[in-house]
Amino acid sequence: MADHRKPVRKPAQPAKGKAVAPKPRAGEVAVPDEGYTSLIEPRGALSELFAPVGGFGVTLSNMFRPTVTDQYPSEKAPTKPRYHGRHQLNRYADGLEKCIGCELCAWACPADAIYVEGADNTPDNQRSPGERYGSVYQINYLRCIFCGLCIEACPTRALTMTNEYELAGPTRAGMIWEKQDLLAPLRSGMLQAPHPMVEGTTDTDYYHGTVTGSTPAQAAWVTEHRPDDPTLPGGAGLDAANVPGETAAVMAATVAAATKQGKR
Ligand code: SF4
Ligand code: SF4
Repeated sequence: MADHRKPVRKPAQPAKGKAVAPKPRAGEVAVPDEGYTSLIEPRGALSELFAPVGGFGVTLSNMFRPTVTDQYPSEKAPTKPRYHGRHQLNRYADGLEKCIGCELCAWACPADAIYVEGADNTPDNQRSPGERYGSVYQINYLRCIFCGLCIEACPTRALTMTNEYELAGPTRAGMIWEKQDLLAPLRSGMLQAPHPMVEGTTDTDYYHGTVTGSTPAQAAWVTEHRPDDPTLPGGAGLDAANVPGETAAVMAATVAAATKQGKR
């Protein structure tokens, strides 16, 4: 009967007459074998002489170069145009929200930093073009790694990233930004949602960019339902409408305090 056991490999034996370096004990450094040759070129006599002060050459050569230290936070350095900073939830030109609550951004996020709940638009509460809008939207900036996968996943370009990098909060909960904190500011010509879509348009027209501002019919609807709305023509104005969310306000105050401290 054949023997199927694996043959046992014997450890390599030193050549006859060759000295073997003793094995280092615990705490000792292994001594190279006799046949060892270093790959580092040996220094010349002059190099050996100046080697101890050679390192100062780097210091001296940099002493006369212009200073490149950023004076942050006294001077805020501009970022590159495509820098991945804080997120923003965008609006269409008439003020309706671009987010449709599809959750694709949340599914794309590798850090599980986004939480979205969608809801149905109704005639009395039309917040975005089409059927659905994002009723709850949260980004946890303790988790976000600013990879940008969420904005790539967004089908309506509702979610983009700003260049803002000053993110700080006094508590862990204070690092979770809500929808109100993330919404883009209302601009001239926009009416605060909810309000109906521009007459005779579909959500596809919105996606194609054919809506360029709010219409008198939309203003009339807002006047009927919210006569005090600051975005109405003759209303209190955009400053009154663009009130930052609670988290954004606390974070802005925290950053301002840290900046002031850093200037001392
Ligand atoms: S930038 Fe990356 S980590 Fe941050 S929320 Fe988007 S997908 Fe998640
Ligand atoms: S931000 Fe974009 S991807 Fe995320 S829920 Fe809204 S529409 Fe969908």
